[in-house]
Amino acid sequence: MKKFGLLIFLVFTLLQALAQTSAIEATINASDVIISGKVIDCSAAMIDDLGTNNYIVTLDVDSIYLRNTFVQQQHIQLFWKVNGYENETAAFQKKIQMYKQGKWVFFINRIQLYSSAQMNEDQIQVLTPEIEAKINAIKQTNLIRINNYAQNKTCPESCKFCKAISQERWHRVKRYFKHKTIYPLTAHRNVKWALPDHDIILTLPSFMTIRYMFNTSNGQVPAYARYQVGYYHSFASWIPWTLHKLFHIQAYRYFHFENTNKLILRKFNVKQDAATSYISAYQQSIARMLTDSSLIKVYGPNMPIPAELVLLHLVSESEFRFYLDYQSMPDYAQRAYQYIDDLKNKDQIYTLCLMAFHTNPDFGRYALKALADIRAINTIPFLIQIAEQGRPAYANSDLSIDAHEHYWQQLSRTLDELTGCYTYAHHVPFGVSGNLTAIAFSLPVWKSKYVVLN
Ligand SMILES: [Zn+2]
Repeated sequence: MKKFGLLIFLVFTLLQALAQTSAIEATINASDVIISGKVIDCSAAMIDDLGTNNYIVTLDVDSIYLRNTFVQQQHIQLFWKVNGYENETAAFQKKIQMYKQGKWVFFINRIQLYSSAQMNEDQIQVLTPEIEAKINAIKQTNLIRINNYAQNKTCPESCKFCKAISQERWHRVKRYFKHKTIYPLTAHRNVKWALPDHDIILTLPSFMTIRYMFNTSNGQVPAYARYQVGYYHSFASWIPWTLHKLFHIQAYRYFHFENTNKLILRKFNVKQDAATSYISAYQQSIARMLTDSSLIKVYGPNMPIPAELVLLHLVSESEFRFYLDYQSMPDYAQRAYQYIDDLKNKDQIYTLCLMAFHTNPDFGRYALKALADIRAINTIPFLIQIAEQGRPAYANSDLSIDAHEHYWQQLSRTLDELTGCYTYAHHVPFGVSGNLTAIAFSLPVWKSKYVVLN
């Protein structure tokens, strides 16, 4: 009987411990902001029409453990509505005295942060290492993990090709490219990606470039390989030539070999990106265009053009094409919305990102909404870039300021939905963009919610 009692006691203790654990987990998950610190100040009671006491309580923030919405780094002021203390200001002040001593952890909801709402006692707890560990564990579990290259790496742990890449033994890597069948390449752990750069299949032999990104023990190394597609070789050309001269017979086709299926490695360059050479070629052509005889005296035959400018130029050229399309096609708007809907149905998130950057903010906003609807978490870093850099999309000046404001509003809504955060629309007077201000406050909050694992 004693044993049975002990068992009941043990089960009861275990259940109690479990209940406490899940209670703290529920509190953590229900909070928008978790901070440690203490109360440093409390205002006098302000009695509202209903006879409720309102206080402004100032917290001194020691650490921010978690935030789904913007919160000050140092002092937070909270309205504290106290229903139970209408005639007990002294009792409330006594409670506040307690929170002025030692370290507390505050589990705050956004309604307490942005509008006067009552703090419950269980939202304030003594900061213990256990609670701290629990918060960090939940934060780690909830972290959004973005992996743009999540592919099945099927090669064995002992793969010699990957080992050669890791050790940067490039002659060996090249040998694999030349002689062995190593496809599909992206199944190898140390090949991050492989992209066809361009291929010309007009006449054989033709050439094809493929760009690679390798993972070596020293980091990422770009490379590109150039292949000849198809093989053609003529022989004894004097025979068909003579036949043609004497008898007008066309016999050339009998005097050559060809193999359209042959792939020959012609070039293998490591630590050199094909895109870099493309930009430098473009750079030279711009320099030539801009350098006339009068400027040669000042800058020499090759005017210095920074690579950054070349990139911007390349991008703005294609942006401008979007804008011209918009002007010349009467049903462009209808087509653009239809196109975005199609992309959304097919989950084509990268093309949706391009549309989100459209020069017309209405189409951009529509694409941003689509990204939120299909929960495209891989696009969070791109959307944060748009938010940080501002958007150079003012090509169509006929559109109202409102269209731009709605664009920013949708951008923070999309980022909020993808990260599980909340952006508070700050009121900003005198024509400053309220949505841009809200974005500036929310940027560090969004950034704390994800990690890119590439
Ligand atoms: Zn491998």
